[in-house]
Amino acid sequence: MTMTHGRWRGLAKGLAVAAGLIGAVADGALAESRPAKELFGGMKLPVRAAPAPYGSYAKGCISGAVAIPVDGPNWQAMRLSRNRRWGHPQMISLIERFSRDAPSVGWPGILIGDVSQPRGGPMLSGHASHQIGLDADIWLTPMPNQRLSAKQREDLPFTSMLKENKFLTVDDRVWTPAHARLIMLAASYPQVERIFVNPAIKKKLCDTWTGDRSALGKVRPIYGHDAHFHIRIKCPQGAKGCQPQAAVPAGDGCDKSLAWWFTDEPWAKPKKDPNAPPPKPPRPMQLTDLPKACTAVLKGPAADSELAATYGGDQGLVSALAAAPATQNDAVPAISAQMPPELPDIVPIPLPRPAGY
Ligand SMILES: [Zn+2]
Repeated sequence: MTMTHGRWRGLAKGLAVAAGLIGAVADGALAESRPAKELFGGMKLPVRAAPAPYGSYAKGCISGAVAIPVDGPNWQAMRLSRNRRWGHPQMISLIERFSRDAPSVGWPGILIGDVSQPRGGPMLSGHASHQIGLDADIWLTPMPNQRLSAKQREDLPFTSMLKENKFLTVDDRVWTPAHARLIMLAASYPQVERIFVNPAIKKKLCDTWTGDRSALGKVRPIYGHDAHFHIRIKCPQGAKGCQPQAAVPAGDGCDKSLAWWFTDEPWAKPKKDPNAPPPKPPRPMQLTDLPKACTAVLKGPAADSELAATYGGDQGLVSALAAAPATQNDAVPAISAQMPPELPDIVPIPLPRPAGY
């Protein structure tokens, strides 16, 4: 029952050490044990480093992302509060090019949905993919004549291309041939690997597209995607950390793989055993589930400002790139004299072009 002074002191000291350890863990490792979507979802600015995707479309991150400006001659970015206008410069330049080409197919301009978060990674809401800056959503609603206010960009409702009470059927009162031309234009770019649309839209294209069908196989049927479509580009050349996807199968995809979507199977609710214990909620993705480089991407220095990392913004991107420190964590290559050589020649901005573009 009695304890000597010495032993008390020893115990107290032990407790203090333990408490200190717990404190350190709470500051460091425990903070990192937050789901990766919270860590990446809280990032306001990209990491200041060379543009590079790490990991796969649905499990990764991006360094050196740039933002598409809120407005361009042929585009308006939507849902600005989400802060998902960020992507690899090749993705952003493709969006810009696409917007410029859209009027040639009878589409006045594009409304841009989500690209990626400033440092990519998993998101607090929506999307499993869009994590490495190589995916972008484009509305199936043409850009209106006037500049939308920030509030209108939050509130403008989506317009589904499907009939409300009919299984997987495009509504010809909202769908137009220009919708088809817009999607096929997006599919036509060589760097575009996949386009995701609702199965009903894919079927519509299969049934009605009379132009060149060589890019039709890139248009892939998937759940949702009835009010917007999704553009995915290939891993940039030389992007070692980027995990490519399998190539799309040969052919136009107007085959059994499409017919499957019109069966019950993809829509059937999973059968539940009434006696089974309730399923455990899936463990959210952790930082340690992502490529190691993503820890460096998360912790690296931020770009000076949003403007500085906005594509073509008032010489901004140029100064951001020039200001990047010469040495950084190994996992995130610092900007060097050689900018990524893989940038396509369609990069029209920023001006003046940094050396090596
Ligand atoms: Zn998408």
